[in-house]
Amino acid sequence: MTIKIGLLYGGKSAEHHVSMQTALAVIKALNTNKFDIYPIYISEEGQWIKGQQLTGPVETVKELSFSEGQQLSPLALAPTLFESKESRPFDVIFPLLHGPNGEDGTVQGMLELLNLPYVGNGVLSSSAGMDKVIMKNIFAQAGLNQVDYVWYLRGEWETAEEDAYRKVEDTIGYPCFVKPANLGSSVGISKCTNRSELHEAFVEAFKYDRKIIIEQGVDAREIELGVVGNDYPECSVAGEIIPKDKNFYDYTAKYEDGNTILMIPADVTEAEYSELEAMAIKAFKALDCSGLVRADFFLTKEGKVYINEVNTMPGFTPYSMFPLLWKHSGVEYPALIERLVNLAIERHQEKQ
Ligand code: ADP
Ligand code: MG
Ligand code: MG
Repeated sequence: MTIKIGLLYGGKSAEHHVSMQTALAVIKALNTNKFDIYPIYISEEGQWIKGQQLTGPVETVKELSFSEGQQLSPLALAPTLFESKESRPFDVIFPLLHGPNGEDGTVQGMLELLNLPYVGNGVLSSSAGMDKVIMKNIFAQAGLNQVDYVWYLRGEWETAEEDAYRKVEDTIGYPCFVKPANLGSSVGISKCTNRSELHEAFVEAFKYDRKIIIEQGVDAREIELGVVGNDYPECSVAGEIIPKDKNFYDYTAKYEDGNTILMIPADVTEAEYSELEAMAIKAFKALDCSGLVRADFFLTKEGKVYINEVNTMPGFTPYSMFPLLWKHSGVEYPALIERLVNLAIERHQEKQ
């Protein structure tokens, strides 16, 4: 029996384009008789466009965007997407969306209301995972080791700029990282080593969000683990990101220059892996995750492990870290997607 997958991609987000690339890769990988794929494109303006079921190969992102299709708001389109003469037009929805308006619980909330199984995290874990301040507060409460951080609202900064900078210098110091609270793909993130860079970094980060986080910068290797499951999450092997000639793992290093090396499995000791694994599972449970996350860590020369973040919809092309981690753990790309689809259906059935 074929599984009917509604693939949501694009999205009203700064990570729109990343999602488009991922959707193309997933569609290519799923082009088997096991799955029927129905693409649903969300434009950068937030219009939803339902494409026809894909029956042939799709080669480019452009072919996927259905510019000639009917453009509607999600609310207007929802009934036509999710109701039909058949009891269920899709077996499961795969929200292949990154960043705000997709990875942040909003789409998940809509899917809950429509009573449809969907891949990945629910409303709470998606929204908590999208906000770096909330996520770190939950991690702190769970006793997970992480770097020191402070956060600001735009209004607080605007009324007392100097105070904000002084507080960062007194509590965090340099180098530090300034980030919009709600984003991913390194968008709006700066590394600062002095006051003027700090000022520029605040200005930049506040372009993307009314809330920002400032973190102590660590000199460390970047190690990532994939976690998959619902109530019994399991970890993949560890992988390491080695950005070449870069200040940090920024947007270009992630998506454009192809110079970043993904080293899988990472060269970590057994004891280090055990600690990473335990922390990844603890983070997964603390945020009440389901389906999947990629847990990202810093590992210092001294062997100290800090959790950096979890991503509730990690990069998902066949060449992205998350699928590669699972490949090295014995789960190939199509099998991984099937596993996630089954986890979505299981979670849905448990709730009924
Ligand atoms: P995103 O959600 O956009 O991936 P991250 O918090 O992971 O944001 O930051 C992106 C990158 O910036 C990291 O992969 C790392 O290279 C660098 N970075 C972020 N925070 C720190 C930190 N506290 N110390 C050192 N490097 C950091
Ligand atoms: Mg992230
Ligand atoms: Mg990251």
